[in-house]
Amino acid sequence: MGKKRILAGGIAQESHSFNPVPTDRSRFNIRAGMEAVRTARGSNSLLGGIVDAAAERDVEVIVPTMFRAQSGGPVEEAVFTEMRDILCDAARRGDFDAIVLPLHGGMLTPGLHDPEGALMAALRAIVGPALPMTAAFDLHAHVTPEILERCDLLAGYHTNPHGDQGSTGRRAFLAAMDMLDGRLRPVLSAVHLPMLTLGNDRTDEDPLRALHARARAAVEAGAAYDVSIFNAQQFLDVPGLGQWVLAYGNGAGPDALALELAQKLWDERHALIGSYPSLESCLDRAARGTDRPLILGDQGDRVAGGSPGDGTYVLRALMARGDLPPSAVPIADAAAVQACLAAGLGATVTLSVGGRHSTVAPPAAVTGQIVALGSSAQVTYDGPADAGYTAALGAYAVLRTGAVHVVLTDQPYSYLDPDYFRAMGVDPAALGIVITRSGYHYTLNYAPIGECITVDTPGMTSYRVQDLPFTVARPFFPLDDFAFLPRLHQRGSGTP
Ligand SMILES: [Zn+2]
Repeated sequence: MGKKRILAGGIAQESHSFNPVPTDRSRFNIRAGMEAVRTARGSNSLLGGIVDAAAERDVEVIVPTMFRAQSGGPVEEAVFTEMRDILCDAARRGDFDAIVLPLHGGMLTPGLHDPEGALMAALRAIVGPALPMTAAFDLHAHVTPEILERCDLLAGYHTNPHGDQGSTGRRAFLAAMDMLDGRLRPVLSAVHLPMLTLGNDRTDEDPLRALHARARAAVEAGAAYDVSIFNAQQFLDVPGLGQWVLAYGNGAGPDALALELAQKLWDERHALIGSYPSLESCLDRAARGTDRPLILGDQGDRVAGGSPGDGTYVLRALMARGDLPPSAVPIADAAAVQACLAAGLGATVTLSVGGRHSTVAPPAAVTGQIVALGSSAQVTYDGPADAGYTAALGAYAVLRTGAVHVVLTDQPYSYLDPDYFRAMGVDPAALGIVITRSGYHYTLNYAPIGECITVDTPGMTSYRVQDLPFTVARPFFPLDDFAFLPRLHQRGSGTP
């Protein structure tokens, strides 16, 4: 008997319903075949976990394509279609034993509120109901009944900030292998909760820490095969937005466990709404002097949460004060980068930067010297989150005005890792204040160089969701309050 082969690949992006800038093909890192396998190997990513677990079992991984982009507006339909068609063409060849999909799960296209479910439907239509198909998603995925019906097992991250990408990919892979070997007949017990978490939703702190500990104990005791608790991305105006508890059993669904976890999550809903310090209070601290750099997450303009990344709210605050240590603030602005490229390194320029898409702060006038300039710089994540992941940056320029380094890029980035700054010639460890476009994911990778604080700034990704024009996603807590009756969704409970 020949080597087992699995098909793995797909698309990973997190969308924001209210970001007006579509995510086009140029924002994707697209890899296929041996290049995709080679670059994923040993990396703490979903595909990395699949590739490494497969190598240990001498299973071949076929990657027809893997599209990966940072968060942003909905993904252009043609990008999704291109990826889907490549995967479907590969599926039609039929030279594999199972499918394992490393996706994000929180993507939108203009026409689809559940593209991952549509991808799974297309693949199922080709391979039929019997072929094992599993998937691995980000904890912030928008899970739908269609996804749960079409895939045999869906594994989500257990951590937020996310540090277990590799082991999540591994769980999805091993479930497919266990099915192939006849050791697993997954039966799902799942509960949907019409609520959002808005801060206080780290898994290394209560209440989520206790919930995950309970789930882990149940798996270790053999009461469930795999458990995931999904905390949906907050800015998706889609039907059925909310939380999901998924508990898979082997041969029988762990109904009681799913209901218990869901009830606990609902009971803790008020505790899952956080509060954050003001920007001014953090800048005051920096002005008094700190031992380590303050790494500030700009909550209102988090590219990691799908924002455009061109907000000037923090930049204006930094420029308005003369008492602050050296700082760096990223702004996505392709026109400003082009103006810097035209002026050249060392030139002093006056530019209008940012504020084109961000809803809370207009463009800012900045006069400064161009201290770094370039394109195609390579970022390699220090980790621990996504350690070893590499990405190429587009064109960039660093404009120094007083103590502020304005890091201008032609694409928005989340700055999840300090190497983004280093790749553009700015050493974040040498500064007093560093701004990132992330709310909590950045804290894992910046902890070695500074003190991470997410600040309460206004904007598209602020947790003040009452300011956003939700229509189809409602009702949900905390915008609406209502009695909640948990209802079990089951799959696979019939006899085999
Ligand atoms: Zn996430």
